[in-house]
Formats: sequence, structure tokens, C-alpha cells
Amino acid sequence: MTQEQILNILKKTDTMLEGHFLLTSGRHSNRYMQCARLFEYPQHSEALCKHLAEQMKALEVDLVISPAIGGIIMGYEMARQLGVKNIFAERENGIMTLRRNFQIPVGARVLAVEDVVTTGGSVMEVIELVRQMGGIPVAVGMIVDRSAGKVAFDIPAFSCYSAEIVSYHPEECPICKTDLPLVKPGSRNFSK
Ligand SMILES: [Zn+2]
Repeated sequence: MTQEQILNILKKTDTMLEGHFLLTSGRHSNRYMQCARLFEYPQHSEALCKHLAEQMKALEVDLVISPAIGGIIMGYEMARQLGVKNIFAERENGIMTLRRNFQIPVGARVLAVEDVVTTGGSVMEVIELVRQMGGIPVAVGMIVDRSAGKVAFDIPAFSCYSAEIVSYHPEECPICKTDLPLVKPGSRNFSK
């Protein structure tokens, strides 16, 4: 699968929007990513997860884990592609933990996945949890790496699409100088 084909999927599923957006930080951007949109379309999320899984065959993964809730659907599809089990971690009193009697066997080779990574904080907590349980984190898988490779995991990382989202201080935003209206993603009257 080429980068162009991947980008086409991200655009046609509205996972990646292009325009003039007000980010929660107050800054403006010409792009907005909402990875949950990709998973509205099982055939497209399957295609991207398959593309990632093909690069991971040599890792001999035993188990996939993801941080709830953003990574859960991706984790399920990655596990399906790799033919292994899938579990997820969730926060309890702020601490990333395994509930529901999920287990990580000692020595298991574990793939950590997250749909979109910006700072990598949740994934790093999941990797730490895997180590605490005696598992071996072997790689990170992401649909979108919004840090463009700047997040430094201490294990190999794979992504379908990697790009830094450029944002501007409102007073320095070049898009404000065009006719493109500023929209706030996620607001009720946000439509595309
Ligand atoms: Zn602007």
C-alpha cells in the first residue's frame, strides 16, 4: 500500500480534514485528525491494519494490547491480522492497569497499538505495564503518528501515516488571510 493510497483513505473517511480549524489549544491549523472516523469503515480500517501487520510478521507477536478507549478497535483488528490475542489497558484512579482478568503471560512478545499518537504518553504507560507484568514489548503500531517520528519509544515503532500537524498562533495564521472560515471541530454545527 502506497502513502498516496493511505492518504486517500484518511481523506475519504474524514479521518483527516483539510481546511481552517480552531484547535483546543486555541491555535489554528490547516489540518484536523479524528482517527475514530476511520473505524466507522471496517473495510478501510482493516486495509490499514493489514498494511501495518504485514510489516510486523518477523516480530513474532504473541499478544496485542492497547490503551482504552482510542486503541481498542485498532487492537482488535491488529490481533485479527496477526492471528493472536487482544487485550486492553484502562485507567483506574489515573493508573494504566489491566482489569477484566486480562493477563500478560511472562515472556509474551507484546505489540502495543494506538490509533493516533501525539505525545505517546498513554502508549508509554502501556509499555511500562507490559514490562511490570513480565511481558516483552516488541513494537508500537499506530495508524497516525502526529509527532512525525519525534516521540521516542525505546522499541521499534510502525505507523501508516506520519506527519506533524502544523499550527499557528491566531495572529500569525496565514489561513486567516484567506476567505476560508475558521471552524471548531467537534462542535455541534461543525459539518463538512
Ligand atoms: Zn486562522
